[in-house]
Amino acid sequence: MKNLAPKLSQQQYEKNFAELHPPFTPNSATAEANRCLYCYDSPCTKACPTHIDIPTFIKKIATGNVKGSAKTILKSNWVALTCAKACPVDVLCEGACVYNDRGEQPIQIGRLQRFAMDWYFDKGMPALFTPKPKNGKNIGVIGAGAAGLACAAEAALLGFDVTIYDAKPRPGGLNTWGIAPYKMSQQDALKEVQLVESFGVTILSGVNVGKDVALEELERRHDAIFLGVGLGTSTRLNIPGEDLPGVVEALEFIERVTTRDWMSVDVGRRVAVIGAGNTAIDAATEARRLGAEHVMIIYRRSRGEMPAYDFEYELAKSDGVQFQFLTAPVRIVGNDHVEAIECVQMQLGEPDEEGRRKPFPVPGSEFRIPVDMVIKSVGQRIEETFLGTIPGLRIERGRVWVNPETMQTSNPKYFAGGDCINGGKEVVNAAADGKKAAHGIEAWLVNR
Ligand code: SF4
Repeated sequence: MKNLAPKLSQQQYEKNFAELHPPFTPNSATAEANRCLYCYDSPCTKACPTHIDIPTFIKKIATGNVKGSAKTILKSNWVALTCAKACPVDVLCEGACVYNDRGEQPIQIGRLQRFAMDWYFDKGMPALFTPKPKNGKNIGVIGAGAAGLACAAEAALLGFDVTIYDAKPRPGGLNTWGIAPYKMSQQDALKEVQLVESFGVTILSGVNVGKDVALEELERRHDAIFLGVGLGTSTRLNIPGEDLPGVVEALEFIERVTTRDWMSVDVGRRVAVIGAGNTAIDAATEARRLGAEHVMIIYRRSRGEMPAYDFEYELAKSDGVQFQFLTAPVRIVGNDHVEAIECVQMQLGEPDEEGRRKPFPVPGSEFRIPVDMVIKSVGQRIEETFLGTIPGLRIERGRVWVNPETMQTSNPKYFAGGDCINGGKEVVNAAADGKKAAHGIEAWLVNR
C-alpha cells in the first residue's frame, strides 16, 4: 500500500486498543448486583435472545455465589463471555431494564455477566454440567462460530458425538476473527472454544468442507449436520476501480487487527470506509487507532437511516472519524493504487420495500475526495456456491430457510442457525439458534 500512516510504538498500539470497558472489582460487582430489583417478570430476560435468567444470575453474584451465577448464565448461552463483551446491551437486556423507565442508569448486566464468566474461566472452568449418557448418534457441525459452538456444546451434553469442521486456522468464527480488540481479545473467544472442547467435542480447524472434505463424506459420517456457516461472499460495490491496490474488505482488515500483530497491519494516511453498519464503524475506528490521520465514513443515506448502533456511532465520532452522509461512491480513482474516491451527493426519496427512504443521486454533484485506502463494508451474502450443493436446501430471500421451532432445513438431515439464516444479526442470536438446533436434532434423531 502507498502513503501509509507511520507505524506507532508498541506501547501506543496497546493503549489505543486497550479494553473500553474495564471489569468490575468484586466489590463493585456486588454493589451493582445489589441495585437489581429482581423483577418478577424480568423484561431484561425477555429482551435477551438466549433468555438468560438475568435476575437469578445477578442475585447469585449479590450473595457471593459466583459459580452458581456462571452456571445460570451458561445454561442459556455457551458464548456468554463474548456476549458480555460484544453484545449491544443498550438495545437488548440493558435497554429493557426497568431502571430506564425511571430515568436512571440501567443495571450493567453485560459487565456483571462478564464478572461471572471471567471468574469461571479464571478458575479453570469448574465442571457445572453432567452430560446425558451417549445416545449413539453423531453430529457434524460446519462452522466453529457462535452458532456452531452453541449447537456442539448443547448436543454434546445431550449425548451426541460431535465434530466441528472449520475453515479457519483457529476456531471461534467472528468471535475470534471479527471483534475489535478494544471490545474483546481473541484469547477470550478461544476460552469459550476450550469450554466446548471440554465436553468432548472434536474441532477440525483448517478444513474447508466441499474442498478438503466432500459433503457426501460428511453425510456418510454423521446422522445430522448443522450449518453454522455464517455469511461468506462480500457484496461488491460494482464501481470502476474497485479492484485497485489499496481497496480492502472491512472483515479482512478487522481480521488482521484481531491478531494484535500491529506492525503487520498497514493503514493509509487517509482512509474512506464505504458503508455505515457496525462493521464499517469498527473498521473506521480501528483505522484511526492504527494511526490513520483522516478517516471518513461514506454513506448514501442520512444519519437517521444509518444501520450502526448509536453507541458505535458515538465511539467513532469520539475517535475523530468523520461522517459523509448522503454520499455515494461512483468510482475509485488511481493508476496503480488508490488516489481518490469520486462520489456523488444523494437525496432521499420515498421509502423502499424495507421502509427505508431510497437515495437518488443529485445530477451534477460529483466530487472527489483524495484517499490512500478504501475499506468496503457494504454487507455480505450467504455462500450460495457451497450451500447450493446441498440437495433440496431451500434458500429464501438470500437466507437458508429453517423451521423456527427446530431449526431444521428443507433437507431433513440438515439444521442451520446464525447469520446464514438471519442475514447477519448478533452473536447472541447465533448462540440461541445453535442451542435450539441441538434440541431440534435430538427431537428428530432420538425422541421420535
Ligand atoms: Fe434487574 Fe433491571 Fe432485569 Fe429488573 S429489569 S431484573 S432491575 S436487570
